[in-house]
Amino acid sequence: MAPKRPLDSSADEVRAALRPALQRFGPDYWREQDAAKTFPTEFFDTMGKAGYFGTFIPETHGGADAGPRVASVLVEEINRAGGDAASVNAQMAICRTVVLHGTEEQKQRYLPGVASGDIRFLTVAATEPDSGANMVDLASTARRDGDDWVINASKVLISFAEHTRLIILLARADEGTTLFLLDLDELGDRVEMHPIDLVAHRMTSSLFIDDLRLPDSARIGPAGEGLACLMRGFVIRRVLAASEAIGNARFLLDRSIEYAKTRKTFNQLIGVNQGIQYPLVQAYAKVEAADLMRWDVLDLVDRGEDAVPRSAMAKVLASEAAWETTRAALTTFGGWGLASEYHVERKLREGTVYVFNNLLMNLIADRALGLPKK
Ligand SMILES: Cc1cc2nc3c(=O)[nH]c(=O)nc-3n(C[C@H](O)[C@H](O)[C@H](O)COP(=O)(O)OP(=O)(O)OC[C@H]3O[C@@H](n4cnc5c(N)ncnc54)[C@H](O)[C@@H]3O)c2cc1C
Repeated sequence: MAPKRPLDSSADEVRAALRPALQRFGPDYWREQDAAKTFPTEFFDTMGKAGYFGTFIPETHGGADAGPRVASVLVEEINRAGGDAASVNAQMAICRTVVLHGTEEQKQRYLPGVASGDIRFLTVAATEPDSGANMVDLASTARRDGDDWVINASKVLISFAEHTRLIILLARADEGTTLFLLDLDELGDRVEMHPIDLVAHRMTSSLFIDDLRLPDSARIGPAGEGLACLMRGFVIRRVLAASEAIGNARFLLDRSIEYAKTRKTFNQLIGVNQGIQYPLVQAYAKVEAADLMRWDVLDLVDRGEDAVPRSAMAKVLASEAAWETTRAALTTFGGWGLASEYHVERKLREGTVYVFNNLLMNLIADRALGLPKK
């Protein structure tokens, strides 16, 4: 089922190298993590030891600098094996903001530990209770006081906040949006957190900071350019989200096809029914198309060309294809699709996380279609 593409020899190598580790952490491991709502520590540490967290970190700072293709295949394969790549995705990709915009001191202090997995760097705190998707009109403030900054912030739906050591915080200074690096080993209880229970096991929290004093050395990038610095990572984040969705879809397709070939009702395999075949065929075709778009974006990235609109398209297409695949899987598995032992219901819940695409569609309307803006 995996498409063979000319550029895929390194992708195939990554897939082969991953196989033994992923066999150790099969779907039942993830079902248990999901039920217990725990952080997948053993899996995460295994990926760290294998060197994957340094994928975007230069060798000079302890990384492997393997690049976005490796990261893309990695998260796809984790999900295709029935897992949840969110923590690995975060640990690989969030540190890019420090790689691209951090000070040499920040890089030397943290990046080697991030690459090895000893330091968890899983979180960007941007979303707020009032402003939601609007990351410009922030209520969280950073006020200069001598050489320091004083931070007041309320953030919501922040992934892995209670499982990370480092957080990138977006706040509004006089100059505009500005990024700060919070080291929770140092700040500890100065950052108040409350877990938010979601339909999917995504370990999100609300986060409150009251008059926290930070040195200027905690700032990432220029004051006033916080959102611009974050956005430089968005193309890769979208490709990785698309890759995760493709992995989820392929996991469900693999299982559904197997089930359709073995489950018999009315004295025949259910897979002979067009009512089972066509939804799977439609889903398969759309996943393959989304996959081509994913590689197309990576080609643009390699060539240093503008990949912004196409990365948005790849994410929209992949998440929609995965959503459609989940529907096809439910049809295939019938009532058993809702039983946790078949893993379809877990992927259904996890799939909800990927389908919020409105702002990406705004971006495509503007950048690809040139439609008028408000
Ligand atoms: C599982 C999960 C993990 C998350 N992790 C993080 C994290 O780690 N860090 C973080 O900062 N945030 C995180 N978020 C928050 C996420 O980024 C926000 O949910 C998102 O920015 C939207 O904010 P909101 O939910 O308040 O929706 P709102 O901004 O209230 O929007 C509600 C709906 O209206 C739509 N909408 C709003 N404005 C427009 C517009 N102009 N055009 C078209 N549609 C519009 C939105 O797309 C959405 O569908 C996470 C969310 C989830 C579900």
